[in-house]
Amino acid sequence: MQASSKESAPSIGRRGFILILSSPSGAGKTTLTRAVAADPKWGLDLSISVTTRQRRPSEIDGKHYTFIDREAFDALRSADNLLEWAEVHGNFYGTPRRPVEKVLGAGRDMIFDIDYQGTRQVRSKLAEDVVTVFILPPSLAELRHRLERRAEDSPDTIEKRLANARMEIQRWSEYDYVIVNDDLDDAFRSLEGILIAERLKRERRVGLTAFVEGLLAEPD
Ligand code: 5GP
Repeated sequence: MQASSKESAPSIGRRGFILILSSPSGAGKTTLTRAVAADPKWGLDLSISVTTRQRRPSEIDGKHYTFIDREAFDALRSADNLLEWAEVHGNFYGTPRRPVEKVLGAGRDMIFDIDYQGTRQVRSKLAEDVVTVFILPPSLAELRHRLERRAEDSPDTIEKRLANARMEIQRWSEYDYVIVNDDLDDAFRSLEGILIAERLKRERRVGLTAFVEGLLAEPD
């Protein structure tokens, strides 16, 4: 029996990429990141950052962040174990390097929830294997409302985060995609659209040339 062309077609693979979401605090980036990472259909690994910030009551060590002290953070940094790091709102945050290398090496994709300083560092190291998305709030009034409603930070911390929001928002133009999050479901669908399109990008697909050559070699 002759093999069908489908069975004999060379397989098309893909290089993995890093999907970075950034936004001012309260714009919904963490909710979006966690939602897309939790959906098995996307097969995305979530990068768990290390931070020197105090754990919020709802956070679980090792799940939301790995909470460490300044000394441990400095040791990771000096040993070059962080792919990127930054000081944000007076605390230190960083992305452990090894899990990222493992995921990308296996041809899978990873999602990061990091700020613009970290985004710049990752982009300068991994260039075309990075896709960046900036999440904007529909208004600053809504941002304040969301931070107050979350009620996990002290009033002082909220004020500090709002003051930083204007500065962070000005980084929007460094990103590949921008989503205005006035409806979480719509924002989620936009994010899914970005993932679908980026996974189809010709440049990061392996085996396309052989596949097309096979197509053209088929008899009429
Ligand atoms: P939060 O304290 O609200 O969890 O995060 C504060 C900010 O730090 C957010 O903008 C978040 O994206 C950013 N952030 C979290 N983890 C990292 C990280 O590993 N590296 C960098 N550069 N920023 C991070």
